[in-house]
This record gives sequence, structure tokens and C-alpha cells, in this order.
Amino acid sequence: MSDSSVYIVGAGIVGLASAAVLLERGYKVTVIDRAEPGNATSRGNAAAIAWTDVSPLASPGIWKKVPGWLFDPLGPLSIRPVYALKILPWMLRFAAASRPAAMRRSTEAIVALNSLALPAWERIWTRMGWGNHLRREGCLDVFDKESELAGARAGWRKQRDYGIEIEEIDGKAIRDMEPALSENVVGGAFLPGWLHVDDPLLLCRDLESHIRGLGGKFVVGQVERVERAEAGAMVHLADGATIPARKLVIAGGAWSKALAKGLGDAIPLDTERGYNITVPDPGVSLRRFVMLPGYGFVLSPIEPGLRIGGAVEFGGLEAEANWARVDALVARARKVVPDLKTDGGTRWMGFRPSIPDSLPVISKARGSNDILYAFGHGHHGLTQAAATAEIIADEISGAEPAIDISPYRVDRF
Ligand SMILES: Cc1cc2nc3c(=O)[nH]c(=O)nc-3n(C[C@H](O)[C@H](O)[C@H](O)COP(=O)(O)OP(=O)(O)OC[C@H]3O[C@@H](n4cnc5c(N)ncnc54)[C@H](O)[C@@H]3O)c2cc1C
Repeated sequence: MSDSSVYIVGAGIVGLASAAVLLERGYKVTVIDRAEPGNATSRGNAAAIAWTDVSPLASPGIWKKVPGWLFDPLGPLSIRPVYALKILPWMLRFAAASRPAAMRRSTEAIVALNSLALPAWERIWTRMGWGNHLRREGCLDVFDKESELAGARAGWRKQRDYGIEIEEIDGKAIRDMEPALSENVVGGAFLPGWLHVDDPLLLCRDLESHIRGLGGKFVVGQVERVERAEAGAMVHLADGATIPARKLVIAGGAWSKALAKGLGDAIPLDTERGYNITVPDPGVSLRRFVMLPGYGFVLSPIEPGLRIGGAVEFGGLEAEANWARVDALVARARKVVPDLKTDGGTRWMGFRPSIPDSLPVISKARGSNDILYAFGHGHHGLTQAAATAEIIADEISGAEPAIDISPYRVDRF
């Protein structure tokens, strides 16, 4: 084991981006995952580099909506009744994070991380030669109810205050840009700085090739637990093998909680399950990413087809998917895209790794200089993966990160 070796648990987008940056900086990197790279949440997301999103999920008064989430299993946000007690401690922290001062702190920390998000990705994509897989078409926020449109303006003002370019436009201008959208669309906004990728799974696969090309290695194995060692960490695999690691990064997405707990860090990580359907031949054409905040889902035109999805379901890591949620999404999507066809579509559910304050954990483990956490990115793991990777590489090499990383530290819990 050389001093420059780093092991990473998790070959999702966060682990892969971290491996790519560490290899570029001269480290020897091995990524451990129980399955092939990009097999979990990072394969099927909506593909957005949503660096212009600055609002945490918890906002003042939102916790009052929790009872409603229990009784509408197909609503944009729902809690499975059997999971209600288990999610209660998370929800209490979520309520605390929705207080105005806490929300302001989260917003500032999201803005700081997102300011690094796109430049950090551009650095990786340039090295990978991946520029032709980016869709720099911007994003439309679209509404079909005047009342919701009026409510959105405060959010747009906030984005502008953070220097984000955002232009309010009326329903006709929106239909001129995207003729597939319904006459019912009353207005919205255009965010030209937004971009999305051709296919998040393709990005994971191409990152894997890039990592292998730089000499990185992949090990298939289920990590049962990790423990501190005299110099570094000991990784215990389910087949009984042990791996001594001089430096270890835990990037296991929504499954990271147990590994951190074994190290003595109780982190309020849970999952917001999300659903979508990808239709290869939707019968309509969209050029831009379209967000429908009033309905809680997005339309993402990507290489495999039109991906329609979003929604949040608190139901843990074990429960079966509720595919009726996808049918409900499609029914809502037809209100905005009347000619939408979904024959031949592929349904998918993924596990967003979520922390109540909407901030990831990018941090050394308590009491260790050698074990680092990189998980909990919730709705923005693709967006923030490269920024996280640069911070992790800075922490490992002792360099000063580009932003203040105290808001993402484990000692905030
Ligand atoms: C419907 C939906 C839409 C989304 N849209 C977007 C979007 O447009 N833009 C955006 O930025 N984000 C989006 N997200 C969020 C984003 O997908 C996630 O934040 C991101 O994929 C998390 O990446 P990760 O690497 O942390 O986790 P994962 O991709 O889940 O990877 C974790 C990896 O760790 C491995 N692992 C875990 N534990 C162990 C263990 N003990 N042993 C071995 N291996 C282990 C798993 O097998 C897995 O491969 C969306 C999410 C969903 C569900």
C-alpha cells in the first residue's frame, strides 16, 4: 500500500468524479462497488446540471404540509404510512431546517457549492473530451396556473439576487420556443445558463473508461463495514476479504448511513425516492429542459428519449416501487404536453440520498484525517459531483478548497 493510494466506496457519479479528479492529481485510486459503475441512482436521473437551483427543500411553513403528504400517495410529495415513524426524526430536523435563518444558511451554502459545480465539471469534461454530449439549451420553468406563476416570482427574484440570469416570459413566447406545450401554459421563465447532459448513464460509463485509462481500478464487492486503522482505514467486504486503505472516501449515496454509523457518525441521511419514465418515441419534440414546479416533475429531452419524472416519496431503501406514481406523472404531463405518447417507455425509480438541510456531507469523518464522506447530495448529485470531487481531493492533499466547506462538515449534526 503506497501513501498515495485512495479507496472509494461507491461508483455512483460522486465516487466516479472523485476518482477522476484524484487520479488527475497523481493518486492511485481503487473504486469499490457491489455492482457495475453507475448502476444505482446516478444512472436514471433527469440529467440536469442544475447549478441555478438555489433553494433548499425545507422552506418556512413547509412542514405544515406533512400531514397532506401522508394521505396523497400519488401526490408530488408523499410519505408511505408504514415509513412515517421511521422518517419522523428526519422530518423533525427538516422542520428545524425550514426556519428562516436555517434556510438562509442552507441557501448560501448551496449557492457556494453550485458556483463551483459547472466549472468543476467543465474541467473534467475537457480532460475526457466529453463536450459534444452537453445540451446547452437552457431551461424553461413553466406554469399553467396564474396563481402558481405569481408565487414563483419570489424564487426568481432570489435567483437574480445571486447573479443567475433568468427572464420571465409569457405563454405565447414559451410555445414559440417549445410548440409541443399546451395552450394552457400561462407563462414562466427561461434560464439560459442551465445545461443538461445527453445521458447520465453514458456519463458514468465514459467516466469509468476515463478512470481506467488513467490507471484507476475497480473492485466488485459489498462493503459490510469500515473501521479506523492506525494509518488509514480497514474495509471489510461481505466475502470476508479485508482491504487496508491509506485514505478512504465513502461515496455510497443513500446507502452511506450505516457505514458512517459504524465509524461513530450518526448522520441524518434518508432517501427521497424519485420516479420517471423514459420514452424513446414520445410523438412530440422538445429542445429544452422543461420544469413544471406546479406539478413537481420535469421533462428532460435526452439521448435515450424524453424522460418525464421527479416526485418525492419517503419510503426507505427496502420497499417495492409504487409504479402507479409513474402513471400519475404521465397523466399530469399530458395536461402540459397534450400529444405525449408513452408506449414503449421504461419506468425507473431511484434513491436520492437526502439530508434535511439539503446540503451534502463533504467532510472528514469525526476524529479521522484519513476517512472522508462524500454523500447526501439529494436532488443535485449529478450537478454537484465534480465540485465535491475537487473538495475531496483538496482535503486529501491538504490544499485549500475553493470555497468555505464548513457548512458541509459532519460536525453540523
Ligand atoms: C428521479 C430523479 C431525478 C434526478 N435528477 C437529477 C438531476 O437532473 N440533476 C442532478 O444533479 N441530480 C439529480 N438527481 C439526484 C442524483 O441522481 C443523485 O443525487 C446522485 O445520483 C447521487 O449520486 P451518488 O454517487 O451519491 O449515489 P449513487 O448513484 O446511488 O451511487 C452510490 C453507489 O454506492 C454503491 N454502494 C453503496 N453502498 C455500498 C456498499 N456498502 N458496498 C458497495 N457498494 C456500495 C452503490 O451500489 C452505488 O453504485 C435525481 C434523482 C432522482 C431519483
